[in-house]
Amino acid sequence: MPQYTPTAPAVTVPALVHDSGMAPPESYPDTLLLIDNQWREAAGGKTLDVLNPATGERIGRVAHASTADLDLALAAARRGFDAWRWVPANERAAVMRMAAGLVRQRVDAIARLLTMEQGKPLAEARAEVLAGADIIEWFADEGRRVYGRIVPPRNLAVEQHVLKEPVGPVAAFTPWNFPINQIVRKLGAALATGCSILVKAPEETPASPAALLAAFVDAGVPPGTVGLVFGNPAEISSYVIPHPAIRKVTFTGSTAVGKELAALAGRHMKRVTMELGGHAPVIIAEDADVSLAVRAAGAAKFRNAGQVCISPTRFLVHRSVRDEFVRALVDHAQKLKLGNGLADGTTLGPLANARRLTAMGKLVGDARQRGAKVLTGGERVGGAGNFFAPTVLDDVPVDADVFNHEPFGPVAAVRAFDTLDEAIAESNRLPYGLAGYAFTRSLHHAHQLAQRLELGMLWINQPAAPSAEMPFGGVKDSGYGSEGGPEAMEAYLVTKTVSIMTG
Ligand code: NAD
Repeated sequence: MPQYTPTAPAVTVPALVHDSGMAPPESYPDTLLLIDNQWREAAGGKTLDVLNPATGERIGRVAHASTADLDLALAAARRGFDAWRWVPANERAAVMRMAAGLVRQRVDAIARLLTMEQGKPLAEARAEVLAGADIIEWFADEGRRVYGRIVPPRNLAVEQHVLKEPVGPVAAFTPWNFPINQIVRKLGAALATGCSILVKAPEETPASPAALLAAFVDAGVPPGTVGLVFGNPAEISSYVIPHPAIRKVTFTGSTAVGKELAALAGRHMKRVTMELGGHAPVIIAEDADVSLAVRAAGAAKFRNAGQVCISPTRFLVHRSVRDEFVRALVDHAQKLKLGNGLADGTTLGPLANARRLTAMGKLVGDARQRGAKVLTGGERVGGAGNFFAPTVLDDVPVDADVFNHEPFGPVAAVRAFDTLDEAIAESNRLPYGLAGYAFTRSLHHAHQLAQRLELGMLWINQPAAPSAEMPFGGVKDSGYGSEGGPEAMEAYLVTKTVSIMTG
């Protein structure tokens, strides 16, 4: 069994360490591939442009991996697994905690990169980075409690052990809406259980993921334990998923892509976790605290400009409180300050890419044409950058696109209901089953909703609070597997039965 000697962590001045993937605070770096703890250009020298969604300007480039780069990265992941799996759990935890500490120290620089490439307000970017550190720390500790069991034998001369082992090198595919947090739930569970992980992070938001992984390199993970590649997503997934080095696949993104990747993984018998799209119902019952509902669901609706898989999207409001709710939601939307995420006071940034801008225009146009009322917003703002006004639609018919396809943008669609049964039926109508919200003062209603809604996560009388210790994941077309709680660890473990005849 190989011995592991942790290297002394390189705790350098965070904002200036170019060679570990970090940039000085005022600039935005080009992003390289991370293979074997080395930052390197793509073998063919190919790059992609990175744009600032607030201005539309190119701010940097990201290396575009070729098959030759992927071969190196996969070989490194195999070696990384052979080293990391034999590191005692408490030492793995110490390295992970060190990495989390470096992320905390570097929060301002990382948050700035995140806002420049993704658009969200700086305060949200900071919160994301700090939540990322928290998640890493939780998984670090959880990794110290991966227990097998001893099973009473039928023959007393036999010892029966159930061992839990890391599944092997992991391929992770993560999206652009939370460039840090979509990685840490996968990375945290993989490293805590002793797996290595090769991350295909988003080409549109590459620098903050690079800064995250740099913290792990600086904290002393053995070469190959973490890797980072960018390029053509479909080419990378179709090469990496079937590759024999990879034993587990984890993806966050749209349901359509998730189904393709799950099918490919299935053909090659790879373990899979899929965190896919949602279309979260928000049920506001007749006995709800309406102002709480607006504060909680309104804030959640426009966080990250609505580009959140658990974003509230279908507001189902009891007819008796509908006018009061809608007035307050419009007021909330109109008070948001739309602007560059780096500017002081901005509470709503641009959409992360031009595709979302086009999608929002189409959704609003379709709803309007089917008879919905546009109470505020409904259009692009300005000529440069991907700004879309916070939008509230009322009287939205259930056949409108916005009530059927995940909007992934700052559009709140509202319709009235008369009975709770009706609201539950509408909630369960779609193939999605990720998150949901409800506001009610009735324990009976809360119990009914908890029992009958087809969702992976339900928050009642509060905003979403997805902490690391709670399971995070969906049902139905929203995917399978969990990215929080002990279930998240299980997803990276395999079980071995060992029976020893001692006599
Ligand atoms: P998309 O479906 O093409 O891409 C979503 C993500 O999957 C991106 O990060 C992309 O790089 C990746 N991806 C796409 N094809 C891939 C492939 N063949 N192999 C590996 N990775 C692949 O669309 P998009 O325009 O980026 O986003 C549109 C929709 O995706 C949104 O409307 C939303 O429904 C969904 N989405 C969901 C999440 C989430 O948190 N669940 C995050 C981002 C996007």
